[in-house]
Amino acid sequence: MTDVFMNTYHRLPVTFSRGEGAWLFDTGGKKYLDFSSGIAVNCLGHAYPPLVKAIAEQAARLNHVCNYYQSNTTAAFAEKLTAACAPVGMKRVFLANSGAEANEGAFKIARKYSLVRHGPNRHRIVTLKGGFHGRTVTTLAATGQDVFHKDFGPFTEGFAYVPAGDIEALDRALDADTVAGFLVEAVQGESGIRPQESAYIRRAAELCAERDILLIFDEVQCGVGRTGSFLACEAYGVKPDIVTLAKGLAGGIPVGAALAGEKAADILQISDHGSTFGGNPVAAAAGLVVLETVNCPSFLAEITRKGEKLQSVVRGWGHPKVRELRGRGLMIGIDIEDEAWPILERGVAAAGTPPAANPGLLILSAGQKTLRLLPPYIIADTEIEEGLELLRGLLS
Ligand SMILES: *Cc1c(COP(=O)(O)O)cnc(C)c1O
Repeated sequence: MTDVFMNTYHRLPVTFSRGEGAWLFDTGGKKYLDFSSGIAVNCLGHAYPPLVKAIAEQAARLNHVCNYYQSNTTAAFAEKLTAACAPVGMKRVFLANSGAEANEGAFKIARKYSLVRHGPNRHRIVTLKGGFHGRTVTTLAATGQDVFHKDFGPFTEGFAYVPAGDIEALDRALDADTVAGFLVEAVQGESGIRPQESAYIRRAAELCAERDILLIFDEVQCGVGRTGSFLACEAYGVKPDIVTLAKGLAGGIPVGAALAGEKAADILQISDHGSTFGGNPVAAAAGLVVLETVNCPSFLAEITRKGEKLQSVVRGWGHPKVRELRGRGLMIGIDIEDEAWPILERGVAAAGTPPAANPGLLILSAGQKTLRLLPPYIIADTEIEEGLELLRGLLS
């Protein structure tokens, strides 16, 4: 591999050249079953024909138009996305390109809302310890993990962290005189696939409503059907004020979104915010296919069923190295006895040279001893079984 990249990633020794469904193929023709979906991005698998067609057709017609002008594709995507989030009260959307950028938009909405309604000095955002919200200077500040708060200071002021699940700590932290927003992942992704407890989220929503603090769900990883409902927060029966999305939203094309409900939908006005690429027509065309495919009850029910099947197979092993299993839908964390990274390495190394057809397995980690499984939604039952057999072999 080239050495001109800055040294920011610990890359495994495999170079992919193409994909199809739940499978990836490397430059030597070896095949790999994909239980990672490019970190919850390729939610419809690889080279999904309707997605390929929509991207190709849009690229051939018009691939970019700046936000001085209008695009029917972008408008259709924004309408469909807002409608998909309407059950939890979302009314308007700002389109961006990534999860971090979506969260930056959410912070601006929450701070301006608070300024307009309550005056200055009420700008703080409370987040959870162990959360993950992105890599920009502000989203790092929002990320409640000390490892991220070094080397790049000064970080953006005004973030405070509370332990997940501790209602008393949250009650103390949500100070009505200084706090604008509470930001939470319904299911924490990077820190080990940890779903929030129902009672905690319900109480948090009450506290936020009482104090007019905006409740913000970062659904960048757990949204867009990943947990078996279009938004993971639907499972809690609460109404957020802001929801952010990105990773899976356009099935592999960069896109991000910050949606707002009744309270904050009209807060951002002309020139308050912007993004050159945000709402790009190619990303919007891809996003439309994802929404049309994923946001339908029978498709979402299949995600839940496949996730339950996956979990029940792993439970059935009674494997001595499996310590705990967590997750919802096709977002699953497995705590193991050993370090996770060598298992990822073995998954790649397991791929045999064709035609000796033994495939490799692509999985992720989330913390030192947690395996993270994020298979594409279109994965077949037989592929789930095959991948889990491979995983069992990698553990032993
Ligand atoms: C990945 C992720 C982000 C950051 O998204 P980028 O597109 O990498 O900026 C933010 N929040 C959560 C929950 C994520 O999983």
